[in-house]
Amino acid sequence: TQTPAQHTITVLKGDGIGPEIMDAALYVLDAMQLGLQYEFADAGMTALEKVGELLPAATMDSIRKNRIAFKSPLTTPVGEGFSSINVELRKRFDLYANVRPAKSFPNTKSRFPSGVDLITVRENTEGAYIGEGQMLSEDGETAVLTQKVTRRGSERIVRYAFELARRTGRKKVTVVHKANILKSTSGLFLKTARTVAAEYPDIQCNEMIVDNCCMQLVMKPEQFDIIVTTNLFGDIISDLCAGLVGGLGLAPGANIGTDAAIFEAVHGSAPDIAGKGVANPCALLLAAAQMLDHLGMTDKAAKLREAIIATLEAKDSLTPDLGGEGNTMSFAKAIASRAV
Ligand code: NAD
Repeated sequence: TQTPAQHTITVLKGDGIGPEIMDAALYVLDAMQLGLQYEFADAGMTALEKVGELLPAATMDSIRKNRIAFKSPLTTPVGEGFSSINVELRKRFDLYANVRPAKSFPNTKSRFPSGVDLITVRENTEGAYIGEGQMLSEDGETAVLTQKVTRRGSERIVRYAFELARRTGRKKVTVVHKANILKSTSGLFLKTARTVAAEYPDIQCNEMIVDNCCMQLVMKPEQFDIIVTTNLFGDIISDLCAGLVGGLGLAPGANIGTDAAIFEAVHGSAPDIAGKGVANPCALLLAAAQMLDHLGMTDKAAKLREAIIATLEAKDSLTPDLGGEGNTMSFAKAIASRAV
């Protein structure tokens, strides 16, 4: 058993169901006695109401200092002048790796209740998402978009995927691309990936064209272990994978950079069920497990995942989205009792 180290993490309770699922997640983490200190900070609508800004400087400073943020979903107001807070965080901290595990869990409404255990590693800073594109003609009939792929950007994301494989005992990395058509951008990504892969003879590497990959994921998802790909493909594939294993309530994600990392649930602030105390805290707790891995507390992370699985298996106090009659806090308490 590892000795608890003192880590201070920035906690964003977020909007909508955010505070409810964060209280539940912190209840579980506290019960596990991990030696974590929390520094609470505001962002999103909560921050806009308190200090007139969606992403206050104090929040940025806190994340910069602690290097780890544990984040509930934020509501980005609809309308002119508001850019997505999540995109802003990604840009400001150069969070180049978006890491999204997709795993089959028992007793969930899922196409694959067993057999899927994969991680999508998506390049998060370049590719097709470097800008909004532009209209080429004044009549609004033609639009173009520029993509950017760099050797440095490709190398660091592929290296991240291989290091992740080594660290977690995974055996295979699949490089997903479209180099047959997008010969310059996807071609450079693939070529760079091959060079990096050669440095990891202990990890199997295969290549797959993105359209085939989508079909394979739907038909035989158990063949995948780690997928590494560029921004747009990764965005689509990671949601496809979340769908394979039962959707948003169980999908966590991490945004990792050199100087900071942010751990969160993939779902949003769910305004339709906010304030009712029935939101599923699992996705945020699975993000917490990713955070514990990142902090080197791998046995605690494993324990937390096992506790979640055991609680699902026992159908103990599950939230209504999983067909249960429990609520956010009863579910969290059931998980906590198995995680200590
Ligand atoms: P959503 O993910 O909030 O909700 C989609 C559906 O899933 C809803 O029916 C909701 O009730 C359900 N759901 C989501 N999480 C759940 C949970 N933990 N337990 C049970 N049910 C759950 O998506 P949306 O409605 O499109 O977006 C709402 C707001 O969230 C928007 O303002 C959007 O900008 C924001 N958002 C934030 C993030 C983030 O901060 N990472 C991500 C996505 C959306």
